[in-house]
Amino acid sequence: MKITDVKVIKLGVQLPKPLGVSKDREFNSRGAALVIIDTDEGIQGIGEGYGPESYIVKTIVDDKFKPLLIGQDPLDIERLWRRMLMDPVFVYWDQKGQGVSAASGVDMALWDIAGKFYNAPIYKLLGGDAKGNGKVKAYASDLFWDTPEIMAESARQFALQGYSAVKTHLGRGLKEDEERVKAIKDAIGDVDLMIDMNCGYDRVEAFKVGKMLEKYDIYWYEEPLSPYDIDGLAYLKNKLDIPIATGENEYTKWGFKELFLKNAVDFAMPDIMRCGGITETKKICALAEAFDVICTPHNYTTGVGLAATLQVMACTPNCEWLEFDVTDYALYKSLLKKPLEFDGQGMVTIPTDPGLGVELKDNVVDKYLIP
Ligand SMILES: [Mg+2]
Repeated sequence: MKITDVKVIKLGVQLPKPLGVSKDREFNSRGAALVIIDTDEGIQGIGEGYGPESYIVKTIVDDKFKPLLIGQDPLDIERLWRRMLMDPVFVYWDQKGQGVSAASGVDMALWDIAGKFYNAPIYKLLGGDAKGNGKVKAYASDLFWDTPEIMAESARQFALQGYSAVKTHLGRGLKEDEERVKAIKDAIGDVDLMIDMNCGYDRVEAFKVGKMLEKYDIYWYEEPLSPYDIDGLAYLKNKLDIPIATGENEYTKWGFKELFLKNAVDFAMPDIMRCGGITETKKICALAEAFDVICTPHNYTTGVGLAATLQVMACTPNCEWLEFDVTDYALYKSLLKKPLEFDGQGMVTIPTDPGLGVELKDNVVDKYLIP
């Protein structure tokens, strides 16, 4: 089998209401870059490289990776991964950033082709169902910044829908954060609460807020600091009695190695669309296992990325907690002919069709296509 074409579809959605995160930042739109690979045997693979700047992913795939991929056997995934990111012809390497994101989308599409070629879902090619129940435990992601009353009511609704954990964005000051944590915890009772700061604090602020969060038995404290400050994350992990989660802004196993060696993370959050694809995420999870770290992949993307995340989590023993987008995003469930649904009892079922197990709805792709 040979690769005959590689292209990127850029998608964009204007949000009906801005989503607020730390430090008064808001998202007004979301985007995605889908990678489509065709072969001479008629098998087509779909992948996703995250992404908000989809034009960068498209340029890198079109101009840099496509010429390296045309004519190659798509089943030689390890070799093609290294051809894209580690070929010795490159004097100047892209160790992190959108180059790795673009390669992640290609890698995912290659795995989709492999699954379709071998007539098996990807998780069956990578070790099978590690937990043995065909499902992955999911948490509701996410509550965005609003009044304490509105955030608490949203959290209560997710608890009533069957989620056993809910995540919220905070990060706008000690007093404002505590008002919201208290209101949400009062509303959800025994349901677990994760807190995501989106890198909004410095070390002094993050420590003070972390001491406050200790009182509320928070499940994890996500990205309290800049991803550059691995020493600061290690400091917080050592000083606070709550687990630290980070990794959505980290790339490849070499990046995660630094987090593990410095004992800076309890829950590692590789993003399959960014960190190097399915191939690299499996290796990051194996590395994490050797450091007794749990992996909980970051997954804030389209239905394609959701399917890839499910495939990797299904076959990886030290993966827990699927991040399930509850914001009614147009490119999530409605992008897929067979949507991946929360089951109302805390779980999402692993797709079992060959490859990623997804087919795109053409009318949804057309509606959100960026020319
Ligand atoms: Mg996050």
